[in-house]
Amino acid sequence: MIAGIDLGTTNSLIGVMDSGFPVLLAGENGSRLTPSVVHFPEGDAPPLVGASALRMRALDPARTVSSVKRYIGRRFGELDAAERSAPFAVERARDGGILIGPRRLSPEQVSAILLGKLRSDAECTLGIEMRRAVITVPAYFNDARRQATKEAGRLAGFDVERILNEPTAAALAHGLDRGGERRRVAVFDLGGGTFDISILELHDGVFQVVSTNGDTRLGGDDIDAALVSFLHSEWSVPHDDALLLARIREAAIGAKHRLSDSQDTVLRLPFASGTSREMALDRAVLENLARPILARARPCCLRALSDAGLAAGEIDDLLLVGGATRMPMVREFARDLFGVDPLTDSNPDESVALGAVLQGGILSGQVTNALLLDVTPLSLGIETFGGLMNVLIPRNTTIPVKAGELFTNAVSGQSAMQIHVLQGERELARDNWALGRFDLPFVPAPKGGARVGVQFEIDADGILRVLARDTATGLEKVVEMKSAVDVSDEAVERMISESVEHAFEDVEARRFAETRQKSADLLGAVRTALTKADALLEPGERDRIEVLAARVGAALAAEDAPALAAANLALDESTRDLAARLLDQAMETALKRRGIL
Ligand code: AMP
Repeated sequence: MIAGIDLGTTNSLIGVMDSGFPVLLAGENGSRLTPSVVHFPEGDAPPLVGASALRMRALDPARTVSSVKRYIGRRFGELDAAERSAPFAVERARDGGILIGPRRLSPEQVSAILLGKLRSDAECTLGIEMRRAVITVPAYFNDARRQATKEAGRLAGFDVERILNEPTAAALAHGLDRGGERRRVAVFDLGGGTFDISILELHDGVFQVVSTNGDTRLGGDDIDAALVSFLHSEWSVPHDDALLLARIREAAIGAKHRLSDSQDTVLRLPFASGTSREMALDRAVLENLARPILARARPCCLRALSDAGLAAGEIDDLLLVGGATRMPMVREFARDLFGVDPLTDSNPDESVALGAVLQGGILSGQVTNALLLDVTPLSLGIETFGGLMNVLIPRNTTIPVKAGELFTNAVSGQSAMQIHVLQGERELARDNWALGRFDLPFVPAPKGGARVGVQFEIDADGILRVLARDTATGLEKVVEMKSAVDVSDEAVERMISESVEHAFEDVEARRFAETRQKSADLLGAVRTALTKADALLEPGERDRIEVLAARVGAALAAEDAPALAAANLALDESTRDLAARLLDQAMETALKRRGIL
């Protein structure tokens, strides 16, 4: 069983497949949303996590870490002033990373505490051990942030089977992977603290993130802050009454939530700082406060569309994700911007987690009718003799995948092999993209004597690991390349159309490269034979062979492929007798040495 986890900035969720359906599990406080907050008490008492930690935030902000997702996988130097001046400590680690909170933990460690809580709550509910998980991340997370999230999962005792993009998870939860035709999907995600807009393209059951944009400081919390400051001025609250301010904030959030379902509500603060306060609030007041905040999402959406090369009317499906999209005005805003009705979802803050659960179901084989697959967009291989591309994993292979091949040295006495890792569809190495290169040393051997096994492994996150091993000594190197899957559609299309356009020349170039390699092998063998076999040569034979060898040399210099192939053939035939005599002689010597002759 594989758990699906939405590790959110504000709230986190966990679920599993149950009798073929994805279900989210309630935590100890009975809610499926666990606040992503960790409180570290004085001393070394175990941390409080979730709702109980959230309650401590107003009382003991310095010991309560929230929004750890903003920090995961980043360097201290990348943080802006607001991120450095959180209510809890944020410091530079010795290696340039980040340490946060009163116990100076890394963001991975704090995230692991959150994940550990989700895990133990789920285990309590299900009564079984949870070891495997799919965890979601925003589409814009770079490799370092994905790896750090994976590491947090590992620290929490999970085998992280996949790091899944949040918008892809949302699309999966809406069953959009079932549509056969090409669809363009906009995922509008407004949570507590961040706004993300992603444009996806669905193609034969495969989702690709075409563009992303957003604002890491825009969300429902800003609407809360605007409402709180409105209440302050209405009620003339003194600014130093921290407890009262915290209660007003709580009451404001409650009122905001109620106004998503009704036109008006009453905000009540009984017995706060000596007096009871009450105010009637209608939806229009809240919307006036929220309008300028929401307007900040507009340029992000327009940029995402333009990066995807699309106009608003070209979006087929609009998905709303994140708790703040429960507000009717947010729904209208998104609909007006993208010109399409959003797919309605009663729990927009749950769809990412449901998608993660479904992905877990697909990976464990519990969900079989889903089409969501990740494939290699372009072929992957290494450069071999003569500057050719040798493909190990062809394009459109479903990942994860592993493939390998054995290579030998082209030159005698060579003491290392260069592994030049390539991506692309062209026959010649130089026309493909270089993903990286490294050397594998081996014991010097005659030509063809060394054997180096090269293995490519692409994990479910699209990360390519190249392993090269000298089979004689067992010496090996493993090098991680950048993501092999993360290539823009446009670049893939360009590569493929170039390979079609140059198909004839490419086949010619490959043929010539192979023939040239054959010539090099042949000339080397002839040279050795002529020096070794002086006594075996018949009159005039050396001259005849030398003339044919010179013809190969001339065709090589002229880069004349047909002439070179003919010259190779003639030289090969002219030395066949000599080769047979050499073999006989070698046999005779060997038998004599063993006393048989
Ligand atoms: P998320 O990060 O997706 O959990 O979203 C959290 C944000 O959604 C917070 O700002 C919540 O106040 C907001 N939210 C949750 N429920 C509602 C609701 N019914 N109406 C308006 N906002 C809501």
